Amino acid sequence: MNKIKTLLTELIIIASLIVAIIFVVSFLSFAYGTKYIVIDLILLFAMAGFITLGGYVFALLYGEKKTINSLKNENEYNLNRNYVFFNYDYFTRKITLRNIKNKDLEGYMIAFNCVRNVDSTTKAIKDDISELNGCVADYLLERINNFDKKDIKFSYFCFYHGVFLVYINCSPEYLNNLINDIETRIYDISREHDFRLYIQPYFGIYDRRNENVEEHDVIYKVINYAMTAREYGSQNFDSVTFYSSELFGSNITTEFEAIVEALDKKEFIVFYQPKYSLGKKQFISSEALVRWQSPKNGLVSPIKFISEAENGGLIHRIDMFVLEQVCKDLNETKRKGRRLLPVSINFSIYEFYAPDFVDDIINTITKYKVNPSLIEMEITESVSGANSFVPISIIKKLKEFGLRILMDDFGVGYSNFNNIKNMPIDVLKIDKSFIDNIVDDEKSREIVKLLIDFARSLGLESIAEGVSVKEQVDILRKYHCDTIQGYFYSKPISKTEYEQFLANNPYEKKGVVEK
Ligand code: C2E
Ligand code: CA
Ligand code: CA
Repeated sequence: MNKIKTLLTELIIIASLIVAIIFVVSFLSFAYGTKYIVIDLILLFAMAGFITLGGYVFALLYGEKKTINSLKNENEYNLNRNYVFFNYDYFTRKITLRNIKNKDLEGYMIAFNCVRNVDSTTKAIKDDISELNGCVADYLLERINNFDKKDIKFSYFCFYHGVFLVYINCSPEYLNNLINDIETRIYDISREHDFRLYIQPYFGIYDRRNENVEEHDVIYKVINYAMTAREYGSQNFDSVTFYSSELFGSNITTEFEAIVEALDKKEFIVFYQPKYSLGKKQFISSEALVRWQSPKNGLVSPIKFISEAENGGLIHRIDMFVLEQVCKDLNETKRKGRRLLPVSINFSIYEFYAPDFVDDIINTITKYKVNPSLIEMEITESVSGANSFVPISIIKKLKEFGLRILMDDFGVGYSNFNNIKNMPIDVLKIDKSFIDNIVDDEKSREIVKLLIDFARSLGLESIAEGVSVKEQVDILRKYHCDTIQGYFYSKPISKTEYEQFLANNPYEKKGVVEK
């Protein structure tokens, strides 16, 4: 498509130039007589037309380039710094490529953090942490890229989930110095900026030369080993910890590996929780929630494995599985001629940085011939560490394709009202923690009322989640909340149960027209 556009632009530019030359020549002859005046006028209009058309196609072309560039930037630009600092996906791909090309080149995987805990802190502290991480990134790039080329065969960096990942091929002495220097620098930066942060760097290292990495060992396992070593160090107050199978035993990574296995064995299933519109007095959509049907542990809640999956970079696979299952279910429901309602799917913010994120989603929805208006995306605003911005151009692309975007867990996270105002979203989901206390606590009621009014003032739909008793529904109705989700109407249920629920529930008026 782009090639055709480029060709078209070039043709139009050439045509405009030819017309311009003819125009100049005929204009000169016009100066000597009036007989070419009509031709001149025609040429003038033709030229204006060509130039406008050329400009339009040019703008189209340039416009598209610009969005691709900004997409690329947002993919790479994780730390509010103006340089390429790989996101998790690029990072793993680069290393995998490197290993495929040079099987003998193996390196250290280093995972380190600057502060112990980036969660549950105030915005000011999060800003300080972001700034600190940005400065550390500056330092890493400067130190490794500019000065040490002779000592290093290769190095890659990434910042993921509040942790720096460095994959580097160097000597043990160099590694030792590097770690000492980074640690010193972290303390220095914090002092220079007067950050009021509790600095606690922990380094976890996995050496691919000492450990027998099998041929099939994928890079995220290597990352996981380094992360595990870092975690172990932070629990035992050891600032540097090398991973070794003797130290950690063989079951330290079982949880992570069990998730990989469960994905391969297709042990995940999707439940649906209905959402009820107070205005329409109907169920209007549902939320897809993943569960792990483990042969060993039964039905496992996502709370038990989502964060491990995020840490290990597996979340994209889980969320894409949920999307695919939802598309299959919607397709089947449509074929059976049953009631077809939109489904919202949770997407972890970390996968927004994957380069194929948008394509993967569009391809899956297209593959199952699902109308994009039936898919909604829930993104959470409670993002920790320096990855604190939501990539707006990615959301715009998904919206252009036809998806609705929901801001999940609204009120508990990092974004302030001003940020939300500029986000291209459709729905605000008020977090359960506010809803929990609205019956007894006046302040919670005030906050929820404020959040509902705020959503309405921006023209957004408001959804209250975790509504479990009738008194909560009554209060929310009084405040004109649009939609309710929670145990009061239904717990998350299997697809078959959901179909039965929609067919005979006591909350809808009989004879409601099926969509
Ligand atoms: P969430 O997105 O805030 O989802 C709402 C959670 O609240 C769900 O828990 C739901 O079962 C629960 N809930 C809904 N109504 C009530 C209620 O009235 N009372 C109580 N006590 N709980 C209620 P669940 O299914 O355990 O999911 C927990 C979290 O795991 C979700 O929180 C979401 O952040 C994450 N999650 C679930 N499925 C996925 C997924 O497919 N992908 C990703 N990335 N995250 C997921
Ligand atoms: Ca959700
Ligand atoms: Ca929530």
